[in-house]
Amino acid sequence: MLVILVGPPGAGKGTQAKQLASYLEITHCSTGEMFREACRSETEIGRKVVEYMNSGRLVPDLLVEQLVAERLGQEDCKDGCLLDGFPRTLVQAKDFDRWSKENYHPINRVVEFKVDEETLLSRLLSRGREDDDEQVIRERFRQYKELTTPLLEYYEDQGVLARIDGIGEIEEVFERIKNVFQTSP
Ligand code: AMP
Repeated sequence: MLVILVGPPGAGKGTQAKQLASYLEITHCSTGEMFREACRSETEIGRKVVEYMNSGRLVPDLLVEQLVAERLGQEDCKDGCLLDGFPRTLVQAKDFDRWSKENYHPINRVVEFKVDEETLLSRLLSRGREDDDEQVIRERFRQYKELTTPLLEYYEDQGVLARIDGIGEIEEVFERIKNVFQTSP
C-alpha cells in the first residue's frame, strides 16, 4: 500500500502520519525528517541541503527523488509506506508515478490536509523548530502555494485524492483520516 500526505507547513501532517502509518501497518517516511537527520549528522546529502532547509526553500527535485528511491528500496518499505512530505512538486509527482509503477506499488490514496493560513502561522510560531522563524515560515507557505498545490489537481484527476479538514483536536482529525480509508477511492 502506498499513501501520500499533502498539506501546508504546520498542518499537523507529521503527527497524523505517525498514527496513520501504525494504523495502516506501513512504514512512515518523512523526507523532512530524513533531511533534518542528514543535516544533524553532516552527511554529504546533509551538506547539500542545509542551505535550502534553513531558508524555507524546497530541496532540488533530483536530490529528493534519490533519497526517496533509496529509502523505499529498504526492507521495511517492501510492502508499502506512508510518504509524508513527498512529492512536493509536479516534477517529483510525475517522476514518482513512473518510478513507482515500474519499481514499487501504485498510489492508493493522497490525503490533503486543509488548514487556513492564520491557524498555520500561530501553530508554527509556537512549535519552535529551527526552520520556524516567521520569515522562513512565510517562504515555506509561498513555496507550498506555488509548487505543491498544483499536485492536488493532478491527483484529483487520477481519482486518488481525499481532502480532510485539518482543524481540530488530534483525535478528531485522525477519525476523519481513518474514514477516508474506510471508503474506496
Ligand atoms: P518538512 O519537515 O516536511 O516541512 O520539510 C522540511 C524541509 O525539508 C522543507 O522545507 C524542504 O526544504 C525540505 N523538503 C522536505 N521534503 C521535500 C520535498 N519533497 N521536496 C523538496 N524539499 C523537501
